[in-house]
Amino acid sequence: FEWIKQHEPAGPPADLRIDVPSSARMYDYYLGGKDNFEVDRRAAEEVIRAFPAIQETTRANRAFLGRAVRFAADQGLRQFLDIGTGIPTQANTDQVAHEVAPDAAILYVDNDPIVLRHADALMAQADGRKRTRVMLGDLRRPEEILAEAQKVLDFQQPVALMLVAILHFIRDEEQPREIVRTLLDALPSGSMLILSHATGDFMPDDSLTVHRAVYDRATSPFIDRRKSKVSSFFDGLDLVDPGLVQLPWWRPNGALPQGSERASGWAGVAVKH
Ligand code: SAH
Repeated sequence: FEWIKQHEPAGPPADLRIDVPSSARMYDYYLGGKDNFEVDRRAAEEVIRAFPAIQETTRANRAFLGRAVRFAADQGLRQFLDIGTGIPTQANTDQVAHEVAPDAAILYVDNDPIVLRHADALMAQADGRKRTRVMLGDLRRPEEILAEAQKVLDFQQPVALMLVAILHFIRDEEQPREIVRTLLDALPSGSMLILSHATGDFMPDDSLTVHRAVYDRATSPFIDRRKSKVSSFFDGLDLVDPGLVQLPWWRPNGALPQGSERASGWAGVAVKH
């Protein structure tokens, strides 16, 4: 794929590591996927034992992603910059967006080479018009992402910036708020921020301790944040109804799935004016 721009992340080489648990592959395992290795399954099982609701949480997160993409597309957005794509699963951003708008452009960005390995699957819906693209990039280097995104998206038109279940992998020292601001500053008014974030607000302390310890040995650390901190990512934007809420409560379609109250993440969508 000549259009896949390979940016070498500062950390591991652009090759799959099977000696270190990968946050992308662990997430795939929580969701019942098959694109994971022994090292990932072992780490994920440790998290599940300490915090069984991780599975409700990841399912609720994935469902939020689908509802939010549909919402943005229904509002007329036709460009999606999805950073922290994850391994393809059900209802990927391009599939949901293209149901509403077959001409929507999607740029997927992830720093885990396993996501690029699945570029074919991510592109399956692109019907030869190259409306879906995938690049290796690191959220901690937003300027590099923007430089590439500007080549394939039209920054005169609104963009849905998606940071879904990724900011909890960025430490405070890495200045996640500044990263979000840098990305949003490049986008025109009418753009949206679609964001979800893991939280300790619904987790017992000992679960959190295990959670953090397991991810300290993985490709990304786990930085849970309280609601007020997550809310500060939306500073200067207008949150759409119902605001920043627990994942399943963001514009649910009908009845909430069982165990929704255990879903340990905050979710919100906001508009830049
Ligand atoms: N957004 C998807 C997947 C979330 S899993 C969803 O919500 O369903 C988190 C993803 O973020 C993983 O694929 C992981 O590889 C990626 N990721 C973690 N840290 C990253 C970083 N610094 N830059 C880019 N991607 C990152």
